[in-house]
Amino acid sequence: MPIADPVLREIAKNALLKVKICMKCYARNPPSAVKCRRCGSKRLRWKKMKMSAKK
Ligand SMILES: [Zn+2]
Repeated sequence: MPIADPVLREIAKNALLKVKICMKCYARNPPSAVKCRRCGSKRLRWKKMKMSAKK
């Protein structure tokens, strides 16, 4: 379902990009997380998503 509003679309895109993934249990964590909320591991990495959508 496409999002018509460009502002909302930008927010949605940023929300998808700004997620930290635990390298141990692969749980999603908020961008402000220092350690995994599930297992407590500090091995978090930014989730990288390639946006192929072109308007
Ligand atoms: Zn974890």
